[in-house]
Amino acid sequence: MYLAGEWASDPFRHNKPRCWRREKTQRQENELPIAEMFLSVQGEGINAGTPSVFLRTYFCNLTCSWCDTKYTWLNQDASRSGIDYQPMTADAVYEKVMAYGCKHLVVTGGEPLMHQRALLPLLSALKKAGVSVEVETNGTLEPSAEMVEVVECFNVSPKTSNSLVDARLRTRRGPLEAFSRNRKAWFKFVTSDSHDIDEVEELISAYGLPRDRVMLMPEGIDAEALLVKSRWLVDVCKERGYRFTPRLQILLYGNRRGT
Ligand code: SF4
Repeated sequence: MYLAGEWASDPFRHNKPRCWRREKTQRQENELPIAEMFLSVQGEGINAGTPSVFLRTYFCNLTCSWCDTKYTWLNQDASRSGIDYQPMTADAVYEKVMAYGCKHLVVTGGEPLMHQRALLPLLSALKKAGVSVEVETNGTLEPSAEMVEVVECFNVSPKTSNSLVDARLRTRRGPLEAFSRNRKAWFKFVTSDSHDIDEVEELISAYGLPRDRVMLMPEGIDAEALLVKSRWLVDVCKERGYRFTPRLQILLYGNRRGT
């Protein structure tokens, strides 16, 4: 949830789910709204192929048209604890993560940085237990210094206009410039066509994103479409010096929950 004073100073607070304030008062401060937890391999980004526990939080501050996890936000204005998500304490999540016996955790969403206050003690304890933590974020919220300390890697995925989200909501200067300065952050763009590549170039210039930490990922939610776009995108990466990242979970399992 928000850190002290963040709500009042957030110009986008009116775009948050209507249940936001109610949620804050009804749930305990250290509880997390969990959409799902499962063991798989990371399918995207710099850690692709790494066996990982996935911790997926509920709620998102964006509404991307091609989102493959709409179940984390589509009903969020009317969401019900225990039905749309499970409220779990940090201790309960910690026990469950450790029970998998896997030393890499991917915290994803939704937008997990909406829950920094509850995440911080959990991630600190996991780090002390030797678990490396990766956070996937849409890049609209800045992590606190304490979060940066305990997180091994940020998988930042700023959205372009293909998301059909208003530019003022999806690109925020403060967080993007902070991630640019942070060597733990990698930038991943969902890419569909050459227009998207032009937008990536514009974002790199506008926010000083480090080109050597930019990755392009094909858009697509079935293996066939993804392979066609991957072949095109690999050529783009060769020409322009970006990294390519696959979307292994779609290639292996299709667009299914828990993979
Ligand atoms: S930011 Fe991520 S989780 Fe939220 S709508 Fe966009 S793709 Fe989905």
